[in-house]
Formats: sequence, structure tokens, C-alpha cells
Amino acid sequence: ILEDEDLQPSSFSTQLSAYKGVWVFAEQREGVVASVAYELLGVGKRLADELRTELSAILFGADDVQAKELIKWGADRVYHCKDTIFDKFNDEPYAMLLTRIINNYKPEIVLAGATPIGRSFIPRVAASLKTGLTADCTALEIDKDSGNLLQIRPAFGGNIMATILCPNHRPQIATVRPRVMKRGEYIADRNGEIISISADNITSRTKVIETVKEVSECMVNLQEAEVIVAGGRGLGRSEGFKMLEELAEVLGGAVGASRAAVDEGWISYSHQVGQTGKTVCPKIYIACGISGAVQHLVGMQSSDIIIAINKNPEAPIFNIATYGIVGDVYEVVPLLIKKLREI
Ligand code: FAD
Repeated sequence: ILEDEDLQPSSFSTQLSAYKGVWVFAEQREGVVASVAYELLGVGKRLADELRTELSAILFGADDVQAKELIKWGADRVYHCKDTIFDKFNDEPYAMLLTRIINNYKPEIVLAGATPIGRSFIPRVAASLKTGLTADCTALEIDKDSGNLLQIRPAFGGNIMATILCPNHRPQIATVRPRVMKRGEYIADRNGEIISISADNITSRTKVIETVKEVSECMVNLQEAEVIVAGGRGLGRSEGFKMLEELAEVLGGAVGASRAAVDEGWISYSHQVGQTGKTVCPKIYIACGISGAVQHLVGMQSSDIIIAINKNPEAPIFNIATYGIVGDVYEVVPLLIKKLREI
């Protein structure tokens, strides 16, 4: 922890240079590491290579198999605490142990998922360490001159992309939205070190009695789908989503929506893609009657292939589309379904 008196020019740079390495907090539920952890290892490896430093993963709960997987996905080292206190997520012990090991090992950068777990306890860690936290990042880079982490995220209602720095404190902590970063290379025989961490004196005033799972209305999990057919206000009515469901079914995908379509009441919020909805990264994203507002784009622009169907050739969605079809969704989509059924 840096106290104000430590922030004098001479001691200040020495204090900062004591922090080395990139850490990824690998969250788990029911013993299975979340896919965002592998995405964070992908971006973490790139940052660590640029800084010529090592990449470590932190795992609370879960077993050795899950710890070894993190090495195969790029971690040089895994700090693993197997204590049963971590079997179910609970803010207090999670924040206590992560703060303690950050103080012991002094990483330069700490990344976690912008998931309900990361959003809940990472701010406590940052506050205990008296350092900054940038929540919900969509891109991360290293500043070539200073070596600081450039933490990029939408701001002012998504109207600008802000670059946030934490130049005077360490570690630099960021949570990153799931599905915006690509996984790194999986190397089955990659070697790494697993360091066992003790949970001595880690306590909790609260106890998790039961976890109740939300029943999703989405037939296919939107964030896991390889193909997403999304509809916007351009559909004009709720029946338009029946047509999109048919296209999604032919392609084995899921149905997404813009906020405008959700606000119209044509489809439920669980399908919403964008800044205040889900972030998705499918192989194919088909945007039907969606204009391409920045708040929608931040949730889907990492998709491998974007196909836009819009009757306005000037619609901004065409600026990021891989393929664009200028036309009426009610003419184009039935034709697509017919052709795909013939294959
Ligand atoms: P519109 O912008 O109205 O576009 C409709 C498009 O359909 C037009 O381009 C039109 O040319 C086309 N069209 C019309 N008829 C047809 C037809 N028959 N065939 C083909 N094309 C047709 N939005 C999100 O999507 N997700 C979010 O998470 C989100 N979060 C937000 C958070 C904040 C803080 C704010 C301020 C806004 C947010 N929004 C979000 C709203 C966003 O700004 C846009 O208003 C919204 O994305 C527009 O949805 P749309 O593209 O469906 O509608």
C-alpha cells in the first residue's frame, strides 16, 4: 500500500518498479473455471510479452485439473487456494485473500472478468490496496513510452471510448467484459508452476446458504452461440422475431436483439446485446433492421463475421459489417431461410 508520503518522486518510482507481472483472476463456479478466465489469459499473455514479464493465474477453489488447464492456456504460474471456503462465491474471503497475496507478490497488472463475481469483489480489493480500478474494459494496451496499462471502455452513455490510466499506483486493476477478448493458444504440454496458497485466518461474517439459478428464457445461451441472428426496431413488430427464430434455427444459432426492440416489448431483455445487455462474440452475427448505434456495437463488434441487413444504405452498421445487404428484412430473411433449407 502506498501512503501519501511514499508518493515523493524518489521513492515513488522505486515503489512502482517493485511491482512485476500480469495476473489473471480465474473465477470458478461449481469447480469449473469460467470461459472469461481463458479470454483474460489470452490478453494477459500479450500484455506480459510486451512488458517482458510473466503471466500468472489466481484460482480460488476448484481442483488441480482446472489449475493445470490455466497453464495450458498461457499461465506461467498458478496461485491456487483449494480451501473449501472458496467453493461458493462470497465477497469477504475472496477479497481478503486476493488483497493479501497481491500485497505479498506485488503484481503490476491484475485482470478479472466483469462478471457478477468480478464486479462484486474486485472493487473491495482495489479499495483495500488504495489503487484504481477500471471496470468493464473492452480493450487493453500497453503505452509504449510509459509502460502503463491503457484501459479502454465506453463512457458517457457509450458515446465515447475513454482511455483510463492508473499511473501513480500499483497494481493497475481492470475488469474486462466477457466475450470481447480472444482466447490465446492452447498448448497441451505447456509447463508451468502451481503454487499452493493457504487460507489461514481467512474468515467470513456471512455464509452462503443456497445459490438459486436464474431460469433463462433463451433456448440457446446467447454468449455461447456461434451464430446470432439479431433484430432491431427495423422489424417493426414482434412477429418479426418469429422469422428471425426460424433463421436462427436453420443456422443452429440464437436470437439477439437491440435495446430498441426490447423496449418495444417484442422480445425479453435476456436477448439484448450491447452496452446494457450482453457482450457476444459469435462466428457469425446477422444484424436485421439494426442501425448500428455505438451502444449496440460495443456488445457485438468482436464477432468474426458481421452480416447487416438494412434498407438504409447509409446505416452506420454497414461501416463495421463484413457483408452488407441493402434491403427489406421481410424480403431478404425469408429468401435466406428458403436457400439455407435447400442446402
Ligand atoms: P434504430 O436506431 O431505430 O434503427 C432501426 C434500423 O432499422 C434503421 O437503420 C432502419 O434503416 C432499419 N430498418 C427499418 N425498417 C427496415 C426494414 N423493413 N428492413 C431493413 N431495415 C429496416 N442499444 C442496444 O442495442 N443495446 C444496448 O445495450 C444499449 N444500451 C444503451 C445504453 C445507454 C446508456 C443508451 C443511452 C443507449 C443504449 N442503447 C442500447 C440504445 C442505442 O443508443 C440505440 O437507440 C439502439 O441500439 C437502436 O436500436 P435499433 O438499431 O434497433 O433501432
